[in-house]
Amino acid sequence: MALIVQKYGGTSVASPERIQAVAERVQRFRGQGHQIVVVVSAMSGETDRLIKLGKAVNADAPAREMDVLISTGEQVTIALLAMALEKIGCPARSYTGYQVHIRTDNVYGKARIQQIDETRIRQDLDLGRVVVVAGFQGVDDDGNITTLGRGGSDTTGVALAAALKADECQIYTDVDGVYTTDPRVVPQAHRLDRITFEEMLEMASLGSKVLQLRSVEFAGKYRVPLRVLSSFAEGPGTLITYEESNMEQPLISGIAFTRDEAKLTVRGVPDRPGIAYHILDEIAKANINVDMIVQNVGLDGTTDFSFTIARGDFKKATQVVQALAKELKARQVVGDDNVVKISVVGVGMRSHAGIASRMFKALADEGINIQMISTSEIKISVVVEEKYLELGVRALHNVFGLDQTA
Ligand code: ADP
Ligand code: ASP
Ligand code: MG
Repeated sequence: MALIVQKYGGTSVASPERIQAVAERVQRFRGQGHQIVVVVSAMSGETDRLIKLGKAVNADAPAREMDVLISTGEQVTIALLAMALEKIGCPARSYTGYQVHIRTDNVYGKARIQQIDETRIRQDLDLGRVVVVAGFQGVDDDGNITTLGRGGSDTTGVALAAALKADECQIYTDVDGVYTTDPRVVPQAHRLDRITFEEMLEMASLGSKVLQLRSVEFAGKYRVPLRVLSSFAEGPGTLITYEESNMEQPLISGIAFTRDEAKLTVRGVPDRPGIAYHILDEIAKANINVDMIVQNVGLDGTTDFSFTIARGDFKKATQVVQALAKELKARQVVGDDNVVKISVVGVGMRSHAGIASRMFKALADEGINIQMISTSEIKISVVVEEKYLELGVRALHNVFGLDQTA
């Protein structure tokens, strides 16, 4: 008998029929003698609808109240799934994050899970019940409802699996595993049987939303056996592995991308110590995260300084930098929220030279200009104009031999 945590995403619970299908799958696993904890998301589109509703009432709604509002989507699906389970003779209990003490910090909208008290869940499991827990939500020390950031039900699932020391955490979604890149953008993308934890971490942090980044971080920290599978079809899915295999690794395992990018350039700032600090410190004080940074080689005592940020922070960051530019006597501030980031990821990079040049040649061959570059041990990212996103991703997918040969 195993203890399995299964998480079902929005599309998997999008209608009464799909909820019934989930119930049947859960029942099948239970029938094999396993104990099952299920984490569900809100029905697809529901969280977006709630956010829109909140903004319509108050464009500047307090973050606390937004969390009270947007956490309700998951409360609907836990009840519906528990009902569906009961209907087919499977004893079930639904719980909100509050009820099972998913304790988080108090950062509304992107709270971090700090502790889970699994007593109540264990009691139910011991009584033979399936336990259905609302994803995406928690409660802070003062009893306020918090949410974990978009896609946060993945993190609820993995955190519960860690707390319960589950034998496996299964993430059921609308694709049958982790692909070499988003199959919606590259039809030739193929499912990976396994992916190393490190690669999954990079893919998630570089924009592949199949797993929320924090869920992968959690999985790594607690070594949670994690698998991504389809809720619509049977199959082995993709296993996230923690050991480097001795087998020859593919050079590149996947291509990630994100449209959520914007770039700011301060032209003609005095080339003297402290400039980067000055600019980035102001940006940090405005609570804006900076991703890539490039400072040009100075000329005539001045230099250009560029950095990227999330697109949602573009307006605020522009205001901060414009105010600063006057103070620094910079020549000009140029903003561009029409850029995207494309990254190639693979542990095979460690032992092979020449990946960057192959990547840059492939982009050049398509006439795609690279605006910024950043690298780590197992990834190379570039910033390019938004209109080249699909073309760039497809070109790289092909050049690194990832296209499916069907
Ligand atoms: P859920 O609602 O189940 O949490 P998401 O929409 O959050 O599902 O995540 C699944 C989606 O992630 C897929 O439909 C796919 O378009 C997208 N995706 C992006 N990159 C990848 C990838 N490398 N492999 C698989 N899916 C990916
Ligand atoms: N319902 C939340 C969202 O749409 C959480 C999730 O789906 O994981 O972001
Ligand atoms: Mg998701």
